[in-house]
Amino acid sequence: MPTQPPSAKADSHFSCFGHCPTCGTTHNLPDNPAIQPCLDLMKTLKNKKRIDLLSSDNNANPLLSTDYLYGPARGQMFGVMVCRHQDGSMGTFRAFSGQYNGIWHVDGWTPPLVAEKKFHNINHDVEKEIKELGRRINALDHSLEQQILKRTRKSLSQKLMKDIHALYQMTNFHGQTRSLQATFTGPGGIPTGTGDCCAPKLLNYAATHGLQPLGLAEFYWGKANKSGTRQHGSFYPSCKAKCQPILGFMLCGLHNVP
Ligand SMILES: [Zn+2]
Ligand SMILES: [Zn+2]
Repeated sequence: MPTQPPSAKADSHFSCFGHCPTCGTTHNLPDNPAIQPCLDLMKTLKNKKRIDLLSSDNNANPLLSTDYLYGPARGQMFGVMVCRHQDGSMGTFRAFSGQYNGIWHVDGWTPPLVAEKKFHNINHDVEKEIKELGRRINALDHSLEQQILKRTRKSLSQKLMKDIHALYQMTNFHGQTRSLQATFTGPGGIPTGTGDCCAPKLLNYAATHGLQPLGLAEFYWGKANKSGTRQHGSFYPSCKAKCQPILGFMLCGLHNVP
């Protein structure tokens, strides 16, 4: 597959935005100051072929090779945010969406919103219980007992989802912190993985570390997704289903930051 990165755009677009119910307007962040750092990151990924960029070649973790992005898991989104520190100096932060090959934390990349240990504590036992119920359900013929077990499993996974969502706390640029449930403005339920994309990771990091974001851009790297809506080396706005419904809150107060 040709790996032709797009050229830096001269004009700026708003690729990171969302409607804020409190202000009744759409808050946004331009992509432009972050485009060139994204192109630089693409070049680094292409040359290094791994994402543990702070490790020496000898200490590279094979799980963090970019080969993973060309396998059955396909590619994923990467994001860069350009920020001003409180002392006026500039900084660049990067994130990958979700986990990378099952790994949440990689040195040099912005951490997830939820502490891994907390997530594991909530998830581990219930997940096991749900799997065990699945085995018992499959072993039964269409009986009343099977119906009861199915209902138990459903309520158990709904409760697990709720508990996981309660772990996600997002902070905006007024310093307000809200749970995912209180933040999400989209129609229907909260999709799995909401809060795990690059933009929420980067913005939450900025808001909780006294950083003022000036730009944020996201690109896709690796084998195109099945539907072909994500292509290697292309830039994409923050996603409509998971990110836009929380970005209005997360970007709120940004332009009040001195
Ligand atoms: Zn997203
Ligand atoms: Zn607002």
